Amino acid sequence: MTSLSQRREAVRPQSAQLADLDRSSPTPEAAWQTDLRHAIRDPAELYRHLELPAPLPRAANLSHFPLIAPLPFVGRIRPGDPHDPLLKQIWPDEAEAAWVPGFGTDPVGDSAATRVPGLLQKYHGRALLIAARACAIHCRYCFRREFPYQDQPAGRLGWEEPLEQLRNDPSLSEVILSGGDPLMLVDPLLGALLDQLEAIPHLRRLRIHTRLPIVIPNRVTKALQQRLAASRFTKVIVVHINHAHEIDDAVGHALSGLIAAGALLLNQSVLLKGVNDSVAALAALSDRLIENRVAPYYLHELDRVTGAAHFEASAGRGVQLIRELRQQLPGYAIPRLVREEAGQPHKTPLA
Ligand SMILES: *Cc1c(COP(=O)(O)O)cnc(C)c1O
Ligand code: SF4
Repeated sequence: MTSLSQRREAVRPQSAQLADLDRSSPTPEAAWQTDLRHAIRDPAELYRHLELPAPLPRAANLSHFPLIAPLPFVGRIRPGDPHDPLLKQIWPDEAEAAWVPGFGTDPVGDSAATRVPGLLQKYHGRALLIAARACAIHCRYCFRREFPYQDQPAGRLGWEEPLEQLRNDPSLSEVILSGGDPLMLVDPLLGALLDQLEAIPHLRRLRIHTRLPIVIPNRVTKALQQRLAASRFTKVIVVHINHAHEIDDAVGHALSGLIAAGALLLNQSVLLKGVNDSVAALAALSDRLIENRVAPYYLHELDRVTGAAHFEASAGRGVQLIRELRQQLPGYAIPRLVREEAGQPHKTPLA
């Protein structure tokens, strides 16, 4: 999905105007970029770092979806525990190589929903802009792990066509920045994109789908907060957290920073076998989210992408879990269990 060079490209803007901006005021690397650069990329190193019991298990083939594990996230994994729910999300298990019927490379019909390269629209009134192609972490169950990012436009110049589409379609009131992870864009580049979006009068809402505040909480810089606060848009930020242990104090601080900037915060999770497929895990996650003023939004059934079959919970498990959660938690703490079905006009609610 994302090669090292693509990642650099996302971090270091290459467009002419920004190069000018860089020359006039060379910006030092932000702390989050340093964290990104120091991410663990070698399974053996991750194994040693976490003092996991020998021998090192065979890892999956990493050639097109490498391991990327930034230290702020790794620091929340319990050392010595090969079954840790955070480790499971990033460990390239040998089982990825299994060919399982029903699993494919485009499980949610993204190709058919591409309006122009870089802009997807599946649903009424909102379109999704692939604002950056890279991510700060590689989640092994990711439905975009097979997404043809190399066919998507890169950086600022690549936004021209998607922006033109957005400008010419008054039926759109919401733009969703996604990726990859849109917060991989450095603040000046993200700001430049928001400038262009804010100039489109029919757009009223900005949604950002991101895992960065969870993975590297210091991505929520003052500059980012100020730019969001200054935006005329109604702002919705959908973070991605699967387990209560992902939220430590630094993440809590990052989340309050986004709320202070005026954003409504929602969370989406994926139902993952061995990570959060129990009532206890989901209840603890909802508790932690509410404590941090983040509303549980969606609990997604696993998208059936090649290489992720070992994460799939048994059929009906999600519905049963949500039923049991309802016995324990207030309604606002219950996520909607959904499945994404290619060609449908909305995600399919299951519970
Ligand atoms: C999931 C998704 C959305 C968002 O759906 P909501 O139900 O509004 O959260 C929008 N566009 C695309 C292409 C999606 O896959
Ligand atoms: S951060 Fe999101 S898009 Fe990136 S690998 Fe993880 S699940 Fe996929």
